Amino acid sequence: MFLTILAAKAESAGREVIAVDPRNTSRQCPECGHTAKENRPTQEEFHCVSCGHTAHADTVGATNVLRAGLVRRDVAPA
Ligand SMILES: [Zn+2]
Repeated sequence: MFLTILAAKAESAGREVIAVDPRNTSRQCPECGHTAKENRPTQEEFHCVSCGHTAHADTVGATNVLRAGLVRRDVAPA
């Protein structure tokens, strides 16, 4: 239901909605791909235990969701 409303709103605004699997989007390093819950020492902080990349956790999550959506769009064009 939420996705139906969201898709209609997006279409009327000329935007595209792609649903993605949210698993690990907040735990995967956008730099090296290392995925571990230890990459999230706090709710706000992302610190990759493999390559040392640091960022705000919300930025990392948004980057990973965007990347996952772009991958899905390339695989199955609308
Ligand atoms: Zn990393």
